[in-house]
Amino acid sequence: ADTRVKKPDWLRVKLPIGENYRHVRGLVDTHKLHTICESGNCPNMGECWGEGTATFMILGNICTRSCGFCAVATGRPEPVDWDEPQRVAEAIHLMKVKHAVLTSVDRDELKDGGSIIWANTIKAVRALNPETTLETLIPDFRGDWDNLQRIIDVAPEVVSHNLETVERLTKKVRIQAKYHRSLEALRRLKDGGMRTKSGIMLGLGEEKHEVLQSLQDLADNGIDVVTLGQYLQPTQKHLPVVRFVHPDEFAEYREGGYNMGIDYVESGPLVRSSYHSERHVIKGEGR
Ligand code: SF4
Ligand code: SF4
Repeated sequence: ADTRVKKPDWLRVKLPIGENYRHVRGLVDTHKLHTICESGNCPNMGECWGEGTATFMILGNICTRSCGFCAVATGRPEPVDWDEPQRVAEAIHLMKVKHAVLTSVDRDELKDGGSIIWANTIKAVRALNPETTLETLIPDFRGDWDNLQRIIDVAPEVVSHNLETVERLTKKVRIQAKYHRSLEALRRLKDGGMRTKSGIMLGLGEEKHEVLQSLQDLADNGIDVVTLGQYLQPTQKHLPVVRFVHPDEFAEYREGGYNMGIDYVESGPLVRSSYHSERHVIKGEGR
């Protein structure tokens, strides 16, 4: 018997079949790029791709880590592709995107953690698309803060790094990561003058007070933007959904986050880390 929790109505979304969606898909394919939208099977592809926004995943599509929620393949990554920054910049140019989200797999096998390709990509995108704003969703670089500094040096408009879950579940949800190391990365980005952002998925077994504690930890470290969304199991091999959080509870966290002084809290069942990302650039846009 199927013992999975049944999906509630508020998670049903439209299928991505518009004209612009096909256009974006074509560009992504011809430039041999990867998107987190596809690997994560994101329910918002119709909306985001329809508006010309996609989240590009750089540094390949094989990750050295094996987070229990993530659909990206784990293994030995391909060698670094030094032309990738230019291809990403060109795709963004052809798509005429005003705001782009970049993310990457984790490359723990590289001494620089992939930070040089990261910096090169940000610079290449800027050179070809001076008007385009960027959110960069970066790894923790295993706490190598010299690598993190390469990102600060090229100053993207928003730098995000996701906690993904509350402290207690971190080991279960992202085994190679550390809750406080992630907080420290965010703190250092903030101290470097960045607009910072982080995200938490709900429905993995966390308690309400733990979610509020994580929000408080983020607020205490000066994080500007926080996203909270429902976790969905990408395949049966991934962590199960423990519960579907009601939209009213998401609204409570939004209120809670604002009361703690966070500038922008994006909270709802379909929210993903990159959802509405173009709005997160602007201070005071949340309320
Ligand atoms: Fe892609 Fe993010 Fe939009 Fe999902 S929410 S389709 S991952 S840009
Ligand atoms: Fe997925 Fe990122 Fe974890 Fe790699 S580090 S498995 S890409 S969430």
